[in-house]
Amino acid sequence: MTLANVPRYEESTVARQGDHAVVVGASMAGLVAARTVADAFDRVTVLDRDALADDPVPRRGVPQGHQPHVLLEAGRATLADLFPSFAEELLSNGGLVLDWTHDLVHYEDGGYLEPGPRRRPMYAASRPLFEAVTRRCLAAVDGVRLRPECRFVDYQLADAGTAVDGVVVESGRSDGTSTLPADLVVDATGRTSRTPAWLAEHGYERPPEEEVTVDVRYSTAVVDRPSADRRAFFVPPTAPRTRGGGAFPVEGDRWLVTLQGVHGDDPPTEPEGLHGFADSLPVDHLARLLDEREWVGDGVESYPFPSNVRRYYEQLDRFPDGLVVLGDAVASFNPVYGQGMSVASLEALVLHHTLADGGLDGLGVRFFDRASEVVDVAWSMAVGSDLGYAATAGSQSVVEAAFTRYLARLVRTAQDDATVADAYGRVVTMEEPPTSLLSPALVARVLSPR
Ligand SMILES: Cc1cc2nc3c(=O)[nH]c(=O)nc-3n(C[C@H](O)[C@H](O)[C@H](O)COP(=O)(O)OP(=O)(O)OC[C@H]3O[C@@H](n4cnc5c(N)ncnc54)[C@H](O)[C@@H]3O)c2cc1C
Repeated sequence: MTLANVPRYEESTVARQGDHAVVVGASMAGLVAARTVADAFDRVTVLDRDALADDPVPRRGVPQGHQPHVLLEAGRATLADLFPSFAEELLSNGGLVLDWTHDLVHYEDGGYLEPGPRRRPMYAASRPLFEAVTRRCLAAVDGVRLRPECRFVDYQLADAGTAVDGVVVESGRSDGTSTLPADLVVDATGRTSRTPAWLAEHGYERPPEEEVTVDVRYSTAVVDRPSADRRAFFVPPTAPRTRGGGAFPVEGDRWLVTLQGVHGDDPPTEPEGLHGFADSLPVDHLARLLDEREWVGDGVESYPFPSNVRRYYEQLDRFPDGLVVLGDAVASFNPVYGQGMSVASLEALVLHHTLADGGLDGLGVRFFDRASEVVDVAWSMAVGSDLGYAATAGSQSVVEAAFTRYLARLVRTAQDDATVADAYGRVVTMEEPPTSLLSPALVARVLSPR
């Protein structure tokens, strides 16, 4: 499922389900989940082990915060629905609204994609600003309380082990642990979530896990940007080319210029080496930004991302009541495709509808079933592309492999066909499902001799 087929947010559809919900993790998935959960509970506590500064600065619990974060259309539209003041707040703090069609220079598979026929809004900001603005919007919602420096230690079990009814936490300001009773607990602790191990320790099955190694590394520098220049550049590594990168405008008149290498073809972590790596890309936009613009600071922020990981909670027969898991804790994708925040936003929307449709009764099982359709789309796009590298272990079915070949041809067609480029853009931004690329009209354009 994508933005096109998850029904939009409608606050009035959710009835009260209880007194208190706890969301563990105040990064993007936790914040959006807390917004939808707040419609069903008198109080929502969102806890995080980090101190949460008012200023948009990277923090320890979100080490990827130095790296560029693109907010795709599925995430943009959902955040705008959940938080009506989001755009205004983002812009007043220096964020930008770009036009994806005209401001984004997108090179893929040997050519530039043709600009589509219509304007498409795209928010641009640093990852810490996206998070700080979302947090501020959430803090203004009735009943929501943020608890920084509060570490999740354990779930509390009730009803002979069949339900979670609270969390055990350790607060930065006290010595011991304490318990927060809750009618619902949401695990949004990211990729290192301890829920799978906890399930196994408490008589449940672990969710089956799939890992697809891609070994991506980002190296990012910050350069100054003329305020009127809102261009973004995207040159993703696409098989068999192991190198790529991008430059994205952010607040403070800066571009984040990132270089990416796949399967061990790591970009340098020192400033001197970056130029040579950028020069090896098929287009020179990033090399020119690094050479011609003034660097803000002289450091390079480097970040390794070993593998796509997916936990199939939807395959479990038994799952405790009073608990759900979402965001990177369920699936984390090769970040080159920019999907994580948008997947988390759509999952929060699915949680909203699942609460509206059946309340707390068997919530986890019902939620995982529906949310898996969101994850399926993102997973198939990310892993489908990664499997194009001979070094990526794994295989595709005959149908998937045929679709991958069709997609490669579609991308080449999109280099001189604005209609095809527009359709592709809508799929990449999770606005439309990949199946939308198989409409007879589009197939005819893609397969016609060129
Ligand atoms: C290099 C890189 C680039 C990326 N680029 C993009 C992009 O362009 N676009 C995009 O949409 N996504 C991108 N992502 C993915 C994106 O960062 C995540 O999908 C997004 O942050 C949602 O993750 P999350 O909230 O589930 O988990 P996380 O962001 O990992 O947050 C988990 C939170 O839980 C807290 N926590 C963990 N354990 C505990 C505990 N025991 N007690 C209390 N708190 C705890 C942490 O402090 C943290 O705040 C990128 C990721 C990487 C690695």
